Amino acid sequence: MPIKDNLKQIKESLPPHVKLVAVSKTKPKEDIMEAYEAGQRLFGENKIQEMTEKYGVLPKDIQWHMIGHIQRNKVKYMAEYVSLIHGVDSLKLLKEINKQAKKHNRVIPCLLQIHIAEEDTKFGFDENDLNELIASDDMHQLTNIKIVGLMGMATFTNNSQQIKKEFKQLKGLFEKTRMSLPDLSELSMGMSGDYEIAIEEGSTMIRVGSSIFGARN
Ligand SMILES: *Cc1c(COP(=O)(O)O)cnc(C)c1O
Repeated sequence: MPIKDNLKQIKESLPPHVKLVAVSKTKPKEDIMEAYEAGQRLFGENKIQEMTEKYGVLPKDIQWHMIGHIQRNKVKYMAEYVSLIHGVDSLKLLKEINKQAKKHNRVIPCLLQIHIAEEDTKFGFDENDLNELIASDDMHQLTNIKIVGLMGMATFTNNSQQIKKEFKQLKGLFEKTRMSLPDLSELSMGMSGDYEIAIEEGSTMIRVGSSIFGARN
């Protein structure tokens, strides 16, 4: 189906409180424009360089979300424009985002990535690291970042019970963390294969690529 029809179908199925991030990584700007013309404004990319190139040539009212793993030395390239960083997985990275945001007089909204999957390859804090970070003074001294939520990726599996369990765990942690960080409002979970489960389990933001733009090479 054409991109705009995929988008329409997904959007119509979403409850009103769930935001759709269209994951356009590896896709050409023509594809992004097709989604843009259908009204989509939130786009997600997983490489800073690719996102910055697209930012340079595409309409300025697009909100760019960085959803991938981040190298600290590249934060400077997106600090001017990025609208939400999903994959924050260390205090060191938060400090770098803070430093670069300051140069542009911005406060950059960030999500803390939580490790919920079985695979070792997925980045993120575990519950103990998260609690330690929140309890430390360090984080609260960073005035140019704002933690607005949590993000997680479920195990890549067909076992929907397992996916459900992992999302439930993340939602539980989100509710707990909210008691000490009341500004927490976004829970980024769910991709093409599992966003329906994620929404049932309390997602407020889904990141969908292939179901909108087709399979990636
Ligand atoms: C690529 C990617 C997505 C989108 O994946 P699809 O399966 O194509 O929907 C979502 N989140 C992250 C972090 C990604 O890297």
